[in-house]
Amino acid sequence: MARHDNILDTIGRTPLVRLNRLAPDHATVWVKVESFNPLGSVKDRMARAVIEDAERSGALRPGQTVIEATSGNTGIGLAMVCAQKGYPLVVTMAESFSLERRRLLRFLGARVVLTPAAEKGTGMLNKAVELAEQHGWFLCRQFDNEANAEVHTRTTAREILDDFAGEPLHAFVSGFGTGGTLLGVARGLKAADPRIRIVAAEPDNSPLMGGGLAQPRDAAGRPSASHPHFRPHLMQGWSPDFISRLAEQARTEGLVDEVVPVPGQEALRLARALATDEGIFAGTSSGATLAAALDVARRSPPGAHIVCMLPDTGERYLSTPLFEHIADDMDEAELALSRSTPGYRFDTTTTPVAPPTPAGEPVDAAAEAFVDAAARDEPVVMFALEWCEFCWAVRKLFARLGVAFRSIDVDAVGFQADEFGVKVRQALKQRTGAPTMPQIWIGGRHIGGCTDLFDAMRSGELQRRLAAANVVHDADVRLDPYSLLPRWLHPRHAA
Ligand code: PMP
Repeated sequence: MARHDNILDTIGRTPLVRLNRLAPDHATVWVKVESFNPLGSVKDRMARAVIEDAERSGALRPGQTVIEATSGNTGIGLAMVCAQKGYPLVVTMAESFSLERRRLLRFLGARVVLTPAAEKGTGMLNKAVELAEQHGWFLCRQFDNEANAEVHTRTTAREILDDFAGEPLHAFVSGFGTGGTLLGVARGLKAADPRIRIVAAEPDNSPLMGGGLAQPRDAAGRPSASHPHFRPHLMQGWSPDFISRLAEQARTEGLVDEVVPVPGQEALRLARALATDEGIFAGTSSGATLAAALDVARRSPPGAHIVCMLPDTGERYLSTPLFEHIADDMDEAELALSRSTPGYRFDTTTTPVAPPTPAGEPVDAAAEAFVDAAARDEPVVMFALEWCEFCWAVRKLFARLGVAFRSIDVDAVGFQADEFGVKVRQALKQRTGAPTMPQIWIGGRHIGGCTDLFDAMRSGELQRRLAAANVVHDADVRLDPYSLLPRWLHPRHAA
């Protein structure tokens, strides 16, 4: 881990970590923690491999748009690779996947086209094909692309073999989405030692591989309909509604020794246990893979070593059932802790009160003139601090109302010379009697601070003042302005 030419060189070489509490005594379970990849999932490997393979073959031209159907991690990995290499990226994704995945993708510069949840994985895939054909884009085809399996033979399997350095490995356990991990790692491990058991895990209510029914396919071998055993399940990234070509190949090449069904509740329980009992923060499919790995471990001979894939980070699941049991507010036990010492509580006031500023403090004449001119001449003006939450909430409210306004941010760099910003605040305090920021004027009349403005919005006074001052605004906006404040600043919350 020295210096790297670019972020893509940090992909792979993820750590294999022993479980110390969750594994049975007679066996050792090692987890391969793929959240160590730069964008937090196993799919970073595939993203780089597929793009570089297409660059080599000429299938991808410089500057050409890349498109893929993905439940998120592939898209996030691709977004990193495309950002680093300069390709525009479009991702199609069913609307049912977690919000943080969409937002991450857009943060990385990708565009996200949502598809109806009812159309399942097939829908997002077909949409990607349609868009690629229509616009001449490069479609990654992660479900069929050999490069997706090859990278796991070349890197993931190699890393595991190197980490065991000749010591026997009893089993490797992985779920499958595209099947790239399962197929690629299985090939590498079986080639090195055919006795290593390859275990595929899948949701118990959606037994695509375990149920034994074939996947309906068209003449070209592509899935032509949902697999009859597919049911919606909890493990994002696992089993789409079809068996992909790569997953199928793992089976037809005789690489899969066993398929273990995993209940959704076990996936959640073990993802949480990984965090609380081992300090390992991983996603739902990681908990699911661990459920299968522990099942294998319990049935394995004494001294067995088992490797379990943990495909991604738990941070991708904040808005999903994985975090459902996590509250925002203090529970009874936390409140009792809060009450166990005298200060800084919500049920008593111990916050020190600021000493009053001496009366009759002289106010700078230039600052006074500055405040007077702005208050008089601007149709809507707020004296503000750049990053204060109350000021941000007011800016958001004006934006929602379509009101053009001037924000004079007295703590901005431009106000630092001669402490002019401090002098303006003194002038404001003298003029309004209020020490707080922001202070707002509409049509030359002072309306007050943030909560005064919000109360005026609720009573209709704000709208009347805007109309009287001929300020263009959207009179039809229905909104509780207090919802624009962070919850901890909400007066009703603090009360
Ligand atoms: N878990 C998660 C969270 C994933 O995003 C994926 C990839 N879709 C997988 C597991 C399965 O990996 P693979 O596509 O290599 O089968």
